Amino acid sequence: MTKSLPNVRGTVTRNKDLGGLTWLRVGGPADVLFQPADVEDLAAFLSGLPTEVPVFPMGVGSNLIVRDGGVRGVVIRLGRGFNGIDIDSDRVTAGAAALDAHVARKAAEAGLDLTFLRTIPGSIGGAVRMNAGCYGSYTGDVFESAEVVLRDGTRATLSASDLNFAYRSTTLPEGAVMVSATFKAPNGDPEELTARMEAQLAKRDETQPTKDRTAGSTFRNPAGFSSTGREDDTHDLKAWKVIDNAGMRGATRGGAVMNTMHSNFLTNAGGATAADLEDLGEEVRKAVYAQSGITLQWEIMRVGERDAPKAAKKQ
Ligand SMILES: Cc1cc2nc3c(=O)[nH]c(=O)nc-3n(C[C@H](O)[C@H](O)[C@H](O)COP(=O)(O)OP(=O)(O)OC[C@H]3O[C@@H](n4cnc5c(N)ncnc54)[C@H](O)[C@@H]3O)c2cc1C
Repeated sequence: MTKSLPNVRGTVTRNKDLGGLTWLRVGGPADVLFQPADVEDLAAFLSGLPTEVPVFPMGVGSNLIVRDGGVRGVVIRLGRGFNGIDIDSDRVTAGAAALDAHVARKAAEAGLDLTFLRTIPGSIGGAVRMNAGCYGSYTGDVFESAEVVLRDGTRATLSASDLNFAYRSTTLPEGAVMVSATFKAPNGDPEELTARMEAQLAKRDETQPTKDRTAGSTFRNPAGFSSTGREDDTHDLKAWKVIDNAGMRGATRGGAVMNTMHSNFLTNAGGATAADLEDLGEEVRKAVYAQSGITLQWEIMRVGERDAPKAAKKQ
């Protein structure tokens, strides 16, 4: 990792442990964690950063396993300066660091329906990148545009056609950091929207381990709803069902467990390493394949190295 980094107004921390910044509370350090002061600071940093240094933007880590050896290169995490929410008629523009729940509540107060975001524990950057969704609505359904800073420091506006929204995926360019996104939301009555969000929160608590250390659904549904509406892209078979059929509900490895309340929630039940979690996930994939012939695909993003870098040899 490069010794000299561009001068910035934000915060640069070398060898910063990322575990505490993720929902699963596992993972090693980033070579460098950069928290830009604002979009100009971010753009100047990226344009001055040698092109060979990898860049990984993270949100609030609710869909991530950071491996135990940490992440080489620069991890960028947006904070204050990127969490504003502006509402203009039926359009909501939110900073990429704004929490989905906060955006949903603000929109509802203004009579705009982004209620599906209320129970997703991520940030707007993560919601767009992952095409997050639930209860039949997806980020791609309401998305209009996103402001990004590309890896070379140039700024761009991306439209839905640039991002190719599909089930839990988009084609955001590698190393691009989203700084804000604009959504066009349907109208609704504020009181009804608030009541719907409360009902959804209650439903979550009844059906999912919302108080445990998880990263949400571990595997994509082999078939589940999708925002594309294409006939070849419906997903009705649930991952939890095939995991149950393979007898893996409650399976453990070290401190990792396939949650007994919802078997598609890989959980840090205490003291798990990233390797425990990832290895248990792989064991589940093998068991499901052996039992049903279905290859489960990870929905949780796994980033970084399994092992810490070897210390540089002393001369
Ligand atoms: C209890 C629980 C319930 C969940 N329920 C749901 C659900 O119902 N539906 C659903 O879709 N997901 C769900 N999730 C998963 C997760 O919350 C979503 O995927 C969320 O959108 C991730 O956002 P994040 O900010 O945490 O992103 P992270 O986990 O930090 O990152 C996820 C991806 O987004 C990218 N990213 C984040 N911010 C930026 C940015 N500013 N610019 C560029 N790329 C960025 C990262 O590079 C990474 O590729 C759940 C998770 C938990 C823990």
